[in-house]
Amino acid sequence: MKDIVNKNTTPPSPGFVFTDSRTGIVHKDLSLFAIFPKVAKSWEANGIQPPDNWKAVVIHEMCEQNPHIECREEGEPEEHMTLADAYRFGSSVTKWIAGGAQFVSNEEAELRAAICAKCHYNKPVGICWNCHSLLKWMGERTGWPETSRDHELRGCTRCKCVLKLKVQLPLDAIDNTGISYPEHCWQRC
Ligand code: SF4
Repeated sequence: MKDIVNKNTTPPSPGFVFTDSRTGIVHKDLSLFAIFPKVAKSWEANGIQPPDNWKAVVIHEMCEQNPHIECREEGEPEEHMTLADAYRFGSSVTKWIAGGAQFVSNEEAELRAAICAKCHYNKPVGICWNCHSLLKWMGERTGWPETSRDHELRGCTRCKCVLKLKVQLPLDAIDNTGISYPEHCWQRC
């Protein structure tokens, strides 16, 4: 069974979407928790008996249907940012702003994203609230670009960075103090 990594944070674009194969109804909302009553109501109207763990079933099916929603397999350990990781992230943002808040070219970001998508260090990473707020602020201020592989990107468990953002940053804006990367990593090119 799959579970959604962040149920309470900023909804994934274009929101939470559940296509119910039982009723044919597509449920869509910016809040995951607003989906459940809609599903329950549609099942009741169609005489469908919900299984005991029906919310978990809905979430699992939603994960399978929507690669844009960040999910992980049940029991898969989640890595968390440490204070040192948060410090490096803050330092990278400072360097990035000082360097003119530039992003790399689309071609470069696509190349990096393709490497990260296949990397075994690409896994769910729990980020702290301060970092989440900083990311939200950056997204709102800059509307940072996307790659065609964003739906495959999670966090990098070497540095605990959010890969969707990291692949867009110039190398000289990334603080990698104390971190080593595998041979195949684009940061070693
Ligand atoms: S180690 Fe390098 S290639 Fe692998 S996920 Fe991290 S940044 Fe991407």
